[in-house]
Amino acid sequence: MGLDINRFAEEVDEEFKCAICLNVLENPVNGPCGHVFCRQCIMTWLESGPTARPIRSGSRTVYASGTCPVDRKSLYRDELLEAAIPFKAILSKLKIKCDFQEFGCKNVVTVGTLKDHVKTCNFNPEEVVECPHGCAKLFVRRNLVKRPHNCIRELQSMIKLQEKIVDQLEVDKASSEKMVRNLQYVIILLMLLMSYLCYILMNPVSMSVV
Ligand SMILES: [Zn+2]
Ligand SMILES: [Zn+2]
Ligand SMILES: [Zn+2]
Ligand SMILES: [Zn+2]
Repeated sequence: MGLDINRFAEEVDEEFKCAICLNVLENPVNGPCGHVFCRQCIMTWLESGPTARPIRSGSRTVYASGTCPVDRKSLYRDELLEAAIPFKAILSKLKIKCDFQEFGCKNVVTVGTLKDHVKTCNFNPEEVVECPHGCAKLFVRRNLVKRPHNCIRELQSMIKLQEKIVDQLEVDKASSEKMVRNLQYVIILLMLLMSYLCYILMNPVSMSVV
């Protein structure tokens, strides 16, 4: 789909732009007419664009043809060639901003080194990071940028949660204390009953007299 033209530090020559996506060429290929496109863009154009004449086998396109979107000359997928090495060499030296600039990366690298930079970039949005203001909460960087985080609000809601837990523990404590008291009554009753039984067993005579 090409590299977003807005990510380039300097004006890019027209010859390095794709006529389909209007961005800077990515994996450039050209047809016999000499026009250059991103591989993905021209493949999609030949397989499903307005002039496409695809032949499919199951879900796979085995043969795709159409016309060049620039000069309308007929164009077959199998005629596409990878762009010339000197062309690609100039393209790979264009300066581009990092994929993660919206997450804070200020690096400007060449197209040729972009992939390597992104792999080791410190602003990867999927990375887990600590709150930058020092409250020690952990975030996936993407969420931190999307929803700015306020340590004080965060701590307040944590305190509220703790208070709720403490309240619940107090309720639990009160109900277990009640249970203990009830058990104590039962034990006292049982003890009274036992001593009464003992008394009867030890004094069978007095029973018969009564
Ligand atoms: Zn393109
Ligand atoms: Zn052409
Ligand atoms: Zn970066
Ligand atoms: Zn914080």
